[in-house]
Amino acid sequence: MGCGTSKEKGEKKVIILLGPPGSGKGSQAPKIVELLQTPHLSTGDMLRAAVASGSELGKEAKEVMEKGGLVDYKVVVGIIKERIKEKDCEKGFLLDGFPRTVEQAEMLDDMLKEEGEKVSSVIALEVPDEVLTERICGRWIHKPSGRSYHVKFAPPKSLGNKEPSPETMLDDETGEALTQREDDSEEALKLRLETYHKETVPVLAYYEGREGVVVEKIDGNRRIEEIWGSIEEAIMA
Ligand code: AMP
Repeated sequence: MGCGTSKEKGEKKVIILLGPPGSGKGSQAPKIVELLQTPHLSTGDMLRAAVASGSELGKEAKEVMEKGGLVDYKVVVGIIKERIKEKDCEKGFLLDGFPRTVEQAEMLDDMLKEEGEKVSSVIALEVPDEVLTERICGRWIHKPSGRSYHVKFAPPKSLGNKEPSPETMLDDETGEALTQREDDSEEALKLRLETYHKETVPVLAYYEGREGVVVEKIDGNRRIEEIWGSIEEAIMA
């Protein structure tokens, strides 16, 4: 059914990109997509799109997301289940932000099994919590383009020596105001990190030792190019 009709069973490249908020998944995912020519499925992006559209599903997810909690697994699993049936997932796909719990991983495995497929690689970016807090709390985004800035590490030209604010943080290309994600606050981040350690880290152990699945922990506290080198090696293994 869905993707897979013209492919041999078990040929799909299904990559899971794991990592706490701010670990660099957003910087590395496009590189994986370019290398493998498969789509990037970010449940966070899909849920934010649902919130922005004002759909029932979005309304349900909004509050939990702003506080940094996990959206009901039935909603998230439902979204992924529909998405991976689409034609562009025929050769495989990159999952970012999913599965976030062992329960979601079990459901993913069941979905793939129905198609005679399985997870190929699990790549986990590891970065200390203190580093993540500084990265996330300084992050500003240009919503229309997705361009990302940082008050200290990648400031927009408009900031100069001024205090960061919507008036001083402007997109380099359009001059439009940048915004911070609702859940990029210190308070929400605390819960997001706690949830990551408690619920998502066990997903690694769940896949470790599984035959035919490459599980690679990668030091994400290095230069983007170095991290990419390690990721490329892992997914081509
Ligand atoms: P992200 O962009 O991956 O940091 O996701 C943003 C928010 O979306 C998370 O903090 C959760 O509230 C929600 N979310 C994304 N993916 C999932 C998932 N697999 N399960 C539950 N909630 C999710």
